Amino acid sequence: MMYDLIIIGAGPAGITASVYAARKRLNFLVITKDIGGQTAWSGDIENYTGYQFITGSDLTAKFEEHMRRYNVELKENEDVIEVEKRGDTVYVKTTKAKYKTKTAIIASGKTSRELGVPGEKEFKNKGLTYCATCDAPLFLGKVVAVIGGGNSGLDATLQLIKIAKHIYLINITPKLTGDPIMQEKVMESSLVTVLNDTKVTAVVGDKMVNGIKIKKQGQDEKELLNVQGIFVEIGLMPNSQLAKGIEKNQWGEIKVDSYNRTNIPGIFAAGDVTDVPEKQIVIAAGEGSKAALGVFRYLNQLK
Ligand SMILES: Cc1cc2nc3c(=O)[nH]c(=O)nc-3n(C[C@H](O)[C@H](O)[C@H](O)COP(=O)(O)OP(=O)(O)OC[C@H]3O[C@@H](n4cnc5c(N)ncnc54)[C@H](O)[C@@H]3O)c2cc1C
Repeated sequence: MMYDLIIIGAGPAGITASVYAARKRLNFLVITKDIGGQTAWSGDIENYTGYQFITGSDLTAKFEEHMRRYNVELKENEDVIEVEKRGDTVYVKTTKAKYKTKTAIIASGKTSRELGVPGEKEFKNKGLTYCATCDAPLFLGKVVAVIGGGNSGLDATLQLIKIAKHIYLINITPKLTGDPIMQEKVMESSLVTVLNDTKVTAVVGDKMVNGIKIKKQGQDEKELLNVQGIFVEIGLMPNSQLAKGIEKNQWGEIKVDSYNRTNIPGIFAAGDVTDVPEKQIVIAAGEGSKAALGVFRYLNQLK
């Protein structure tokens, strides 16, 4: 079976691409690990036009409802490991199967960067998490650490203020770097201790996390903080490893032109996985629609 188009990812970019592809009556498939991507883990969203306020999970439900209205062919919980063009065909290889298509849109977004310290892998999902929206409610009345002073770290801290007993916000730079408005809200809370210029050296625990080792810039001594939860919020990496022979920038983001074309004809990319500046839901959605329209134009030229 040869598809017109395979869309990889069902975050805002992939879902919007699917709506546009359906309306152009393309014969296409969406393959994704999950529905919603990062939007599903976002807390409160106040900058998606048309909704003055909506939670990440509610917006994801709206996106999904819109996509399913078109009876889109969808493979969920499927991990794409390779997208490669040979001859006129794009081959999409997953952990379960291999598919053939004339075109592809890579909309695989970003995932959390890891700390790379001892204990991190061992205690992942045993008190250590990369998703405050998913897991914060599990830490009711507990002492926790949030790692990262950018927007994600501040977002996690603001969610935890309503839940945890105390929050250590551990930040490697001399000052917090997230939006001033979020910094102000964090600083207003007596439940938060901000530790700037501080790096994490290890995660410790028994069956579950019970502490974190930190080191202040310029000091030799490591300090142990007793915490029952750790939220790692130190940035995101593009999920671009699957793109074989496709040009990327120094951060591993797929290079696209203003029509969302990569350097390989027929392979397009959209959203956070690309080098398009600013990583936002409204931008990813817009880029997804552009990519689908670009695919439609490309297919018409093939005829
Ligand atoms: C905590 C947090 C809060 C945020 N808050 C806001 C906000 O308030 N406002 C705002 O505008 N933006 C916010 N953002 C950013 C916004 O969520 C992203 O810019 C947007 O989701 C990017 O959409 P995307 O479709 O490009 O990628 P993603 O949302 O990352 O979606 C990628 C999709 O690809 C799938 N995928 C990945 N790899 C593979 C693979 N190998 N095989 C198959 N499928 C794969 C994933 O499962 C997912 O479905 C926030 C992000 C975070 C993390």
